[in-house]
Amino acid sequence: MKPDSLGWMSGVLKIVSPNCDARPPRATINLLVIHNISLPPNEYGGDAIKRFFTNTLDHTEHAYFEQLKDLKVSSHFLIRRNGQIVQFVPCNKRAWHAGVSNWHGRSRCNDFSIGIEMEGSDFEPFVECQYDTLVRLTRHLKRTYPIMDIVGHCDIAPGRKTDPGPFFDWNLYLARLE
Ligand SMILES: [Zn+2]
Repeated sequence: MKPDSLGWMSGVLKIVSPNCDARPPRATINLLVIHNISLPPNEYGGDAIKRFFTNTLDHTEHAYFEQLKDLKVSSHFLIRRNGQIVQFVPCNKRAWHAGVSNWHGRSRCNDFSIGIEMEGSDFEPFVECQYDTLVRLTRHLKRTYPIMDIVGHCDIAPGRKTDPGPFFDWNLYLARLE
């Protein structure tokens, strides 16, 4: 696993999301943001996340999808419950995952971060193999980009976002990165 010159990782499933744009000139990618997502909420394994990130979600299919109608979002990576990685946006581009956000006085975290979605929720543990994949992916990203901090979405958008949630095991993750 290694990013090419555009920031597409080799050996991972690529599904191109149109929800991205150029990073500001000379932006340094030095923040990793961990999220959780499940669509419908707390249901796993379907293709709704993929369709959400590619603007092809059928909003009539589930009551919850109605509120996602006008949202255009993406993340660079999704780690599914079986540990599979999907990449939607090349790392060199700006994915739209953080929204209104601030990290140590710097706003617009999308400008300088990579977003990783863990398929999951605030209400139950993640799967062991998801951590295996996350650790592996993080190591590869750190080799290529000068990542200085790894934070949760909740850390850069407090009061607005809660993910990756109380079940995300930061101790396990960060210890395994050592
Ligand atoms: Zn999030």
